[in-house]
Amino acid sequence: MNNTLFAEYAWLPDGWRRNVRLEWDRAGTLTQIEVDSSALGAPCAVGPLLPGMPNLHSHAFQRAMAGLTEYRANATDTFWSWRDLMYRFATRITPETLGAIARWLYIEMLKSGYTSVCEFHYVHHLPGGGRYARPHELAARVVDAATASGIGMTMLPVLYQYSGFGSQPPRDDQGRFLNTPEGLLGLLASLRAALPADSSRAYGVAPHSLRAVSEPSLRELLAGLDTVDRSAPVHIHIAEQTAEVDASVAFSGARPVEWLLDRFDVDSRWCLVHATHVNRAETAALARSGAVAGLSLTTEANLGDGLFPAYDYLGARGRIGVGSDSHIAVDWRAELRLLEYGQRLLRRERNVLASAEMPRVADRLFAAALDGGAQASGRSVGALAVGRRADWMVLDTDHPAIAGHGPDTWLSSVVFAEHGESAVRDVYTGGERVVQDRVHRDEDVAYGAYKDALAELLGQ
Ligand code: ZN
Repeated sequence: MNNTLFAEYAWLPDGWRRNVRLEWDRAGTLTQIEVDSSALGAPCAVGPLLPGMPNLHSHAFQRAMAGLTEYRANATDTFWSWRDLMYRFATRITPETLGAIARWLYIEMLKSGYTSVCEFHYVHHLPGGGRYARPHELAARVVDAATASGIGMTMLPVLYQYSGFGSQPPRDDQGRFLNTPEGLLGLLASLRAALPADSSRAYGVAPHSLRAVSEPSLRELLAGLDTVDRSAPVHIHIAEQTAEVDASVAFSGARPVEWLLDRFDVDSRWCLVHATHVNRAETAALARSGAVAGLSLTTEANLGDGLFPAYDYLGARGRIGVGSDSHIAVDWRAELRLLEYGQRLLRRERNVLASAEMPRVADRLFAAALDGGAQASGRSVGALAVGRRADWMVLDTDHPAIAGHGPDTWLSSVVFAEHGESAVRDVYTGGERVVQDRVHRDEDVAYGAYKDALAELLGQ
């Protein structure tokens, strides 16, 4: 393998730079970056290089549900009625179908320019709650799918114990998700032993939500994680729904984000997924904490969650990243676009999330999502810089969205102009080209297996 690449333009931590020569080692880590360089015999990239985008929130199996719940079955259709349908779907998942769905999903992610993913994995057991011979069976299928596709992975096995605030007993249809902290830590240990962390793979945990864990169980989980890795990422769903905020206030007198920040040492290892319903004080406190707000705009729109106060939060220097969550869309461009458009529609202004230092809103959101996504992943990704993983996408400057443009408007057009196929042409992870001319190396085989899995799950 030739571990060098020359690009006429590349997005480095200080923005677009010209004549950039990259080198990386056998583990796929960047070892040298030279600007104003010459090709020196290095192969030339077919277009400008952008760092690969980390996807900080995914439930892989939900990819197979996308588009199946867009009808109204009750007088009011909400997140909670969607969740009932999703639970019914989750009962049918098998190790084989999960592996096939995840592999296809990760190929879709790579083709869009997501080069790593944080998998918030909560289907652990047999239908009804019985254990697989290997407790980590389903999680391992997801990790294997990531390895096969070439995407980087942060696996976050989920602790789910209760059905509501105050340790309410779980529902019958939550049996596949349930663990004690001790059981979940054991599952994580056996998974790590089978598939050890390396330069493409990391582990953390995900307490599902404040509905699904108690204060003592969350403390036990974090203490157990700290004995293995004190910096491992911790992700939690929080304040996605107003009903959840109301239930939190009824239980403890505090709102979910307020409660968590008051009682736990929430810092840069944390990712608060959604955090949609935060008041002014919570918005400021979350920004101060150094945690990442994990935004999944297309899913939040699809589920009717609400609007995260992105203007105030970014103004307070809060950290963000984006994810595809339920996979109603698998495209970081759509997440950034909707993040800005929600604020435009709300405030009746344009370029709301731009800043004085970065007046081009797409550039600002792209840079912010790279930083926050990398932080949330607990891996050295998210930048073309020495020591980071050699993950990038190559733009097609012949694409109608950016043809005739220069670097100043490449990202603006890639994010905001929607004209047919993506302008992302090639994608590399760990220095290896996994997507070439918009085709993933395994896409035919993986798509066949995905269609077989769908046929089995949907009974067709
Ligand atoms: Zn989620």
